[in-house]
Amino acid sequence: MLPQHADVVVVGGGSSGSVVAARLSDDPGRSVLLLEAGQGYEPGPTLPSELRDAALIPVGPGSEWTAAYSAHLTEGRDATVVRGRGLGGSGAVNGAYFIRARPGDFEQWPRSWSYNEVLPYFRAIETDADFIGGIHGSDGLIPVMRTPPHRLHPVSAAFHSAALASGHHPVDDLNAPGPVGVGRVPMNVRDGARHGPGLAYLMPVMGRPNLSVQTGTKVVRIVLSKRRATGVEVADGASVRRIEAGRVVVCAGAVCSPQLLMLSGIGPSSHLRSLGIDVVHPLAGVGDGFSDHPEIAVPYRYRDVVPTPAPLLETVLHTDALEFRAYTVPFGTAIPGSGVVDPVLGVVLTRPRSRGSVILNPQDPSMPPVLDYRYLAHPDDRAAVRGGVRTAADLLSGMTEVVAPGSVAVESGRGEPSDAWLVSHLGTSLHLSGTCRMGDDEHSVVDERCRVHGIEGLSVVDTSVFPEVPSRGPHATAVMLAHRIAVESS
Ligand SMILES: Cc1cc2nc3c(=O)[nH]c(=O)nc-3n(C[C@H](O)[C@H](O)[C@H](O)COP(=O)(O)OP(=O)(O)OC[C@H]3O[C@@H](n4cnc5c(N)ncnc54)[C@H](O)[C@@H]3O)c2cc1C
Repeated sequence: MLPQHADVVVVGGGSSGSVVAARLSDDPGRSVLLLEAGQGYEPGPTLPSELRDAALIPVGPGSEWTAAYSAHLTEGRDATVVRGRGLGGSGAVNGAYFIRARPGDFEQWPRSWSYNEVLPYFRAIETDADFIGGIHGSDGLIPVMRTPPHRLHPVSAAFHSAALASGHHPVDDLNAPGPVGVGRVPMNVRDGARHGPGLAYLMPVMGRPNLSVQTGTKVVRIVLSKRRATGVEVADGASVRRIEAGRVVVCAGAVCSPQLLMLSGIGPSSHLRSLGIDVVHPLAGVGDGFSDHPEIAVPYRYRDVVPTPAPLLETVLHTDALEFRAYTVPFGTAIPGSGVVDPVLGVVLTRPRSRGSVILNPQDPSMPPVLDYRYLAHPDDRAAVRGGVRTAADLLSGMTEVVAPGSVAVESGRGEPSDAWLVSHLGTSLHLSGTCRMGDDEHSVVDERCRVHGIEGLSVVDTSVFPEVPSRGPHATAVMLAHRIAVESS
């Protein structure tokens, strides 16, 4: 039964929304209503195996746990981009690579988000099985572990050795500040099971009388009265139902949070007017200037059959600008239905300069929005990934135990991959960030407490508010941000 009122309505029960709803409902005197568009599940034995198994990423065609969006990655390269849809959101279906942002990443954030300020919260969210004390936590809800060196998959072991042989540093703890190099990835996994925020934060508190979790419930608009959020409207068949709220916290993710603000009249005036939407509060930065990690997949073939199942990613190499990802098995094995049969080594640009935008669907604003990544538009980005592909080919040539001789086919022009080759092997790491940026400049959307500029009672708390994509995967940073904002509002 859908409540008609809550002190706080949280929109979206993904990675961030799960944390926000759990922490805000710690106060028994506050009623919290979490509205999630996708489906729910029960913890325990009935938890769908594809959500539990950390070796599977259930986002292939036909997945019931995702929403798909049409995206223009760059000139000549369109793609379908997925996001999690269901309790736990993207964190319920992701690669379980749980790495912290680097200290330098926070230089783009307001001062209250400096590395020293956020470190206690990174500590608070985790229980690290491999490192005790110091920068690590031991009583947080997200379990963190790495594959022990003696149990590394043959691809991971060969990659680690090849990186060391090429002169890169070994790094014991990729979550520690310090020199970059090759190391084992921290994963939010326990006993082979993915433990995202849906499972770790939300499931244990589902029975609270002051917390109501409604799945299959899509919010279509934030209700605003005189620049104050007073509730939300949810889809109810062909009509809508209104729910009153003391406060609305939007955690719909980096695609849907800006969409919802724009559908509610908050966003770039000319864009909204062109679609017949009344402008309640102009904010030019909504949807504009996002960043994400472009990733080039360098294919090769195995020398022999390699073992499965395995975590898709156990080891990575970082340089100043790039991350090299030694995926253990082909995407077709980890992502059922994706049909990719060749193994790949991923080359990720960690600090991209190109920026993209999310705009409302011009055919029908209530339909999935349109994503324009503008990947590699900046010449520095193109040059960096080109160099990265050369490095990847060198690393693969050193992985003789697992890589079939002559199987690394990087089409070369003047000794380097051509633009056409780069574009045809380009994808995204699915780390979209910064569609409702935090800050105090005229293009920012929220302040340093995640409150939407100019609107009372409305916040956005998810990767939308990151000033830019961190130079590492965003998941741990998203959980840290949601945890901090929620406990500081209590
Ligand atoms: C396939 C995949 C693999 C990834 N792998 C990694 C990884 O290994 N490491 C890493 O660091 N990062 C990874 N990421 C990125 C990371 O998982 C996300 O950045 C993070 O989970 C985003 O959290 P969020 O809270 O911002 O959004 P989400 O977790 O996406 O949550 C948004 C939620 O809001 C709901 N919602 C949207 N609109 C509405 C609405 N109108 N009404 C109600 N509900 C709504 C959605 O259904 C969804 O559940 C991956 C992402 C994907 C998609």
